[in-house]
Amino acid sequence: MKNRIKDILKTTAKEQEITVEGWIRTKRDSKNLCFFELSDGSSLKNLQIIIDKEKYNLTAEIDRLSTGASAAITGILVESPGKNQSVELQGQSIEVIGEASPETYPLQKKRHSFEFLREIAHLRPRTNTFAAVTRVRSTLSFAVHKFFQENDFVYVHTPIISASDAEGAGEMFQITTLPMENVPMVDGEVDYSKDFFGKPANLTVSGQLEGEIYATALKDIYTFGPTFRAENSNTSRHLAEFWMIEPEMAFCTLEGNMEIAEKFLKYVLQYVLDNSKEDMNFFNSFVQKGIIDDIKHVIKSPFTHLTYTEAVDILLKADVKFEFPVEWGHDLQSEHERYLTEKVYNGPVILTDYPQGIKAFYMKQNDDGKTVRAMDILVPRLGEIIGGSERESDLEKLKTRLSEQDLDPKDYWWYLELRQYGTVPHSGFGLGFERLVQYVTGMQNIRDVIPFPRTVGSAEF
Ligand code: ATP
Ligand code: MN
Repeated sequence: MKNRIKDILKTTAKEQEITVEGWIRTKRDSKNLCFFELSDGSSLKNLQIIIDKEKYNLTAEIDRLSTGASAAITGILVESPGKNQSVELQGQSIEVIGEASPETYPLQKKRHSFEFLREIAHLRPRTNTFAAVTRVRSTLSFAVHKFFQENDFVYVHTPIISASDAEGAGEMFQITTLPMENVPMVDGEVDYSKDFFGKPANLTVSGQLEGEIYATALKDIYTFGPTFRAENSNTSRHLAEFWMIEPEMAFCTLEGNMEIAEKFLKYVLQYVLDNSKEDMNFFNSFVQKGIIDDIKHVIKSPFTHLTYTEAVDILLKADVKFEFPVEWGHDLQSEHERYLTEKVYNGPVILTDYPQGIKAFYMKQNDDGKTVRAMDILVPRLGEIIGGSERESDLEKLKTRLSEQDLDPKDYWWYLELRQYGTVPHSGFGLGFERLVQYVTGMQNIRDVIPFPRTVGSAEF
């Protein structure tokens, strides 16, 4: 943890000898002088290094260093005459650690497209954009934990392997140790008794049901872990593997749920503005102009509340041609969500009380017999960022909903017992962490806000 460039650039103690380790970003070589920009990933800004070649007899080392190479350079830190930096290093000795052939190193000084960079995901963190995304992602995940810990939520680790189709939230990835080339069969069906768990199992699509178990004991809990959905959809907002944050609160109705969700979002947004200033300025200038002001505006304005039915009325009256028609009872498309947040309200909107037919069985029924106590939070540029609800706490109503959706109550025996023993109103929501990172950075494609994106047809690296 010594001599990170981020700290060196802020230092005021000049004329001291230091050693800096990092990778060469650029090199400008002339007869007598050589200039390097050295990066160690700690900040967007690089350290400028100037070497008097003759004086220190470093020509051989300098020849071995090109963009991408790693080195440890020792020299004297001095005030810089240049206007782009306050300090620079006068290099006096170089230890070449790893060369990078300029003929083949793929990251050249020019701008590369994000599509190209996805093909070299092992090298893209060495670019300004991906290093900044990675740092902001780290800051945001810390902020998520900080918010919940400060508010006495308990972090619960829910399983990644699940033997129940939690909510039919999406297509599931089945996992098995049965030999694919010779699957054991009984009566013409796969004999799952021979499988690892003695029954079919999948990767989790949500930790919610297990989260509810812990909420009905510890009151306020949250999960933050990987989630898997085999969605065969090629959108800029869906991944097959993503990270989800799922708080669950006991003794909490939909109103409390919405209040916490809004407070939470505003907290993490403020945290990233306060703690990732350099990176946020970068996104503001080069990725999504004006994003900092947008975020500040969101932090200080109350979110708009609207029922699904009201939203549908607005959309039906809208003077625009949508690609997908709007009809009560159908899920809203991203274009509809963006119309509401961008054109009508210019900010986040919380939609509540969705038709029960398009929502999961566990959502609390309204008295109208048509809608449920669901809430989705929609934001400009993205659409849905959070999906949540008050849960059905009435045992009999829950059983009815299960059978209406052709789900077998026997598979949910433990979930039903939470209602049988000391049931309470409880609520929660799910936030896709990558959607949050997208929203904060302005990155267009969700594949570019996770280090190693997994999508249909693509699991390289
Ligand atoms: P969408 O309609 O956008 O597919 P959903 O209704 O399937 O979302 P939920 O099941 O409510 O989403 O999941 C909660 C949250 O998880 C969503 O609000 C979103 O932020 C995130 N999310 C859902 N599916 C994905 C995915 N495939 N990739 C990344 N994030 C996702
Ligand atoms: Mn979905």
